[in-house]
Amino acid sequence: MAVPPGVSEADFLDALAEMRSIVGDEWVFTEAEDLNTYRDFYSVLWGEPEERLASAAVAPSTVEEVQAVVRIANERRIPLYPISTGRNLGYGGPAPVYSGSVVLDLKRMNRILEVNESNASCLVEPGVTYFDMYRHLQQTGSKLWIDVPDPGWGSMVGNALDSGGGYTAAPYRGHWEAVCGIEVVLGDGEILRTGMGALPGAETWQQYRMGIGPCLDGLFRQSSLGVVTKMGFWLFPQPEAYLNCSIDFQRFEDIEPLVDLINELEYGNIFNGMPSITSPVLTRDTPMLMQEVPAPEVMNRLVRETGLPAWRASLVFYGPEKVIRAQWEYVQERFSSFEGVAFRENQFVKLPLTAEDLERIPKARFGIPSLDIFAVGSRGAGSFNPSDGHIWFSAIIPRTGKGYVEANRVMRRECARLGIPLFMFSPAVTCWTRSFVLFAAVPVYKDTDRNRALREKIHEIIRICAEHGWGEYRCPPAFQDAVMESYSFNDNILRRVNEKIKDALDPNGILSAGRYGIWPKHLRERREA
Ligand SMILES: Cc1cc2nc3c(=O)[nH]c(=O)nc-3n(C[C@H](O)[C@H](O)[C@H](O)COP(=O)(O)OP(=O)(O)OC[C@H]3O[C@@H](n4cnc5c(N)ncnc54)[C@H](O)[C@@H]3O)c2cc1C
Repeated sequence: MAVPPGVSEADFLDALAEMRSIVGDEWVFTEAEDLNTYRDFYSVLWGEPEERLASAAVAPSTVEEVQAVVRIANERRIPLYPISTGRNLGYGGPAPVYSGSVVLDLKRMNRILEVNESNASCLVEPGVTYFDMYRHLQQTGSKLWIDVPDPGWGSMVGNALDSGGGYTAAPYRGHWEAVCGIEVVLGDGEILRTGMGALPGAETWQQYRMGIGPCLDGLFRQSSLGVVTKMGFWLFPQPEAYLNCSIDFQRFEDIEPLVDLINELEYGNIFNGMPSITSPVLTRDTPMLMQEVPAPEVMNRLVRETGLPAWRASLVFYGPEKVIRAQWEYVQERFSSFEGVAFRENQFVKLPLTAEDLERIPKARFGIPSLDIFAVGSRGAGSFNPSDGHIWFSAIIPRTGKGYVEANRVMRRECARLGIPLFMFSPAVTCWTRSFVLFAAVPVYKDTDRNRALREKIHEIIRICAEHGWGEYRCPPAFQDAVMESYSFNDNILRRVNEKIKDALDPNGILSAGRYGIWPKHLRERREA
């Protein structure tokens, strides 16, 4: 049997016996075949001694059980790694960051505690998946939408805690930004409620985030400070209609003014859906993988030769039909001065959806969960060079035309130089309104030599991006130390302050050791960077 490092087998067995008495025998897992399900099947450390593996897993079903398990672990210094549904594929799956941790699996805590129609909010437990919430809203005839990430089987809580993103309107598609009110079990088993949740009897927990004094919610994002047991979210009131339009541009030189104008229009709420800026001419053979932006004259020649636009901006509007049509008209007026510009209305849909609509719409834009995305890179028919999974590289870059072109060139050139294969790449995903996210999917294989080489190359890409001022906002455990190291202002004071908070709130260092490069005092020398 695997035992957490630094814990005697006798202590571990006692602790597991106590945990069994709390959650029931069948909810403590120590058999190899059960623990196999807590491996990260997309791991870049697969099969190596450094692969992050759980020593056991415990699945409580109530907050009281979570508190009891945390107290048992705290007494015996047993490392715990809480997960909600553990489907964080591409960023670590269900596996702990610190090998030997006991996974605290919260997927049995899957109650939808409240949906508030008039305030457009909800309160959920960690095991509630996007499918669960969508079904609930449908069955109760709710007029509210959730915002979903591409894979619908994940949890609202786990996804938001890792700062996941979706595809509907701006206040909802940054999932952490849509959070309002958190309940968390701390390392000593105490319960904290943030914001208005701290005021007994307040009916505004899901309405006002800040409460009084310092706002503590951020302490629990990508953090090792607590086990989140409840989370509130703001939901999107179903709009009357949806309109998707695109604007084509013919010249390389348009990229800077077009990004500036899109920013102005989005910040001014002239459109509220998720925009995208792609390049039809640079994705003509590889739709998911943008090629390197060439020199202006080369790109302009390619545009003439292929007849494909240099850039395409797609905008989405949600709202009453007459309002969004007027907004689109205004957008066209503003873009009309661009040479050779072409406008197109791609899809107009009136809500609620009909069965026919369901067949033709992009589901995630309508808050409908699915697993369609797993067709990407799969072993199914037509797939090129399928891998065993992938990791995401996700860096925040400036939301400017210059930022877009530079990030594209640096990433494409450096990946080509280092021999990093990519199967999806965009320099400008817009989960958030004020920055772009450079997203790249890098295939991984269950092949140690290949993975070792890949890890070194990704470390180099992290360094190169940091030199340009681009930091990853989220990454798999194998790179969390390096990414935290790159946030190095003032001798890494960000990490140093986080470590002080860690030592104060979790002095025995039992929770989520190493998550995003924050290690408890007794393990700090393990830091890799
Ligand atoms: C093809 C593909 C497409 C994807 N597309 C998207 C996308 O569009 N958007 C997106 O955001 N992601 C995407 N992902 C990444 C990932 O699949 C999702 O983010 C998924 O929702 C995360 O899994 P989860 O919800 O089960 O979270 P979990 O795995 O449960 O949680 C993630 C991490 O948060 C912490 N945590 C979770 N719950 C708790 C808790 N209760 N208390 C304390 N800490 C906790 C843990 O450290 C855990 O490892 C994609 C992945 C793939 C493979």
